[in-house]
Amino acid sequence: MVSRVIPVDPFDLVIFGGTGDLARRKILPGLFRRFCAGQMPPEAQIIGAARSELDDEGYRDFVRDAIHEFAGPLSEDDAQIDEFLERVGYVAIDAKGEGGWEELKSRVRDDLVHAFYFSVAPALFGDIAERLHLHGLAGDESRIVVEKPFGKDLDSAKALNATLAKHFHEQQIYRIDHYLGKETVQNLMAVRFGNVLFEPLWNAQYVDHIQITVAETVGVGGRGSYYDASGAMRDMVQNHLMQLLCLIAMEPPAKFDPDAVRDEKLKVIRALEPVEPHHIVRGQYDKSANSQGYRQDVENPRSFTESFLALKLHISNWRWAGTPFYLRTGKKLKARTSEIVVVFKDAPHSIFGADAGRHRNVLAIRLQPNEGMTLDVTIKEPGPGGMRLIDVPLDMTFADALGPEAEQATEAYERLIMDVIRGNQTLFMRGDEVEAAWAWTDPIIAGWTARSDVPKPYDQGGSGPEDSMMLMHRDGRRWRELKG
Ligand code: NAP
Repeated sequence: MVSRVIPVDPFDLVIFGGTGDLARRKILPGLFRRFCAGQMPPEAQIIGAARSELDDEGYRDFVRDAIHEFAGPLSEDDAQIDEFLERVGYVAIDAKGEGGWEELKSRVRDDLVHAFYFSVAPALFGDIAERLHLHGLAGDESRIVVEKPFGKDLDSAKALNATLAKHFHEQQIYRIDHYLGKETVQNLMAVRFGNVLFEPLWNAQYVDHIQITVAETVGVGGRGSYYDASGAMRDMVQNHLMQLLCLIAMEPPAKFDPDAVRDEKLKVIRALEPVEPHHIVRGQYDKSANSQGYRQDVENPRSFTESFLALKLHISNWRWAGTPFYLRTGKKLKARTSEIVVVFKDAPHSIFGADAGRHRNVLAIRLQPNEGMTLDVTIKEPGPGGMRLIDVPLDMTFADALGPEAEQATEAYERLIMDVIRGNQTLFMRGDEVEAAWAWTDPIIAGWTARSDVPKPYDQGGSGPEDSMMLMHRDGRRWRELKG
């Protein structure tokens, strides 16, 4: 398979927080990979901006190290790295101060697309937006990219939207949810709307239920204090799982165009029913023989924040009335896996009799690891002995089906940054979408506070609290096993 790489127009990309963790691990190595792929025109310019007193050369050393550490096999090509670094510069700027802005202004070329990536703490978004405006850098050709978290509740998200809207139109604001940049997530739309096979069955009449799982094996790591103030609901469900839910549940948009897609996603969020308290399971990983528990990890012995969350949701519209969506996410579970599982209903009548057992088609869409899809199809077990039925997966692991290029598939951040340069907002969250997601989330969190809800402890390396299994078992269903 030969993939087609279409170079983007020349651009200036300024990365505020260019010396931070996200820039080092994702943004800079990603840009280098796009450069190697031939997508970056010779005139492209990347400018790191942060308070550290570095000059261009000092920053290039930082970028070189980041590439060596995080850009995979391409990082062995020193000639390509040198060529890439010719496009890289640095301006020392304090988002809250006045120094450096005029220099930045002198480096950004008026006649090209310029994007400003806010890879800094959200508390600085307003300061940067304000100063970009004051220094004449917020014109119509400017785009801003903002990282998550986008607010911590509806009020703060509204305030942040209002702050950005003072100086930028909605069409200039790119709110990143890197899940939307994943190959498989986009494939979800291709599978649903590019094939005639699935869409007629994609509704409550044929779908028994849908599961969305994002499981991690790691704990809170070095993000203890941030995580403890957020929990799985704010950190994962309100954004990543909600976006996956929207793509799986939305109506077909009239065209693959940013607002057409985002209008449909918004309708899904607005159609979500409030969640019953007994349809929510919160958990906290316990300490194990050789590993600290959640409370020790976040250094808060009285923390009631959830590191695991499972929910049963309903979408009140014609397509989905009666079909539950089960969402779960958690840390320190037995496998690192993200997948969406569409479980279809049984055939209305089995001509093979009760002995043939119960069989159903299951479409599993894996985001990680090994991006791909499987569709369980019921067939006759080969051999003599009558009509015994078994379910076998039709496996479409992208790396197997599409060859080695798929294994090096574009990472989410690379794709999203190139979309910013192209001016394509389809894979970015619109302001009203984020607010609608918070409007659904806030009452759930408020309910926990009002009830003084205490998360259930769960064993590390397992599948989460027992109650999460019960959430399914009560309905005669079960979670798909977590497999890495
Ligand atoms: P980080 O490692 O703490 O880096 C913060 C960056 O901001 C540094 O470059 C820092 O450089 C710069 N900075 C701090 N104060 C500044 C100021 N007053 N003026 C200008 N620059 C300033 O944070 P991060 O992990 O990269 O995260 C950045 C953003 O991405 C955050 O919003 C975070 O929530 C989001 N995010 C990160 C990840 C991730 O994997 N890291 C994932 C998802 C979202 P100086 O100290 O030199 O100024």
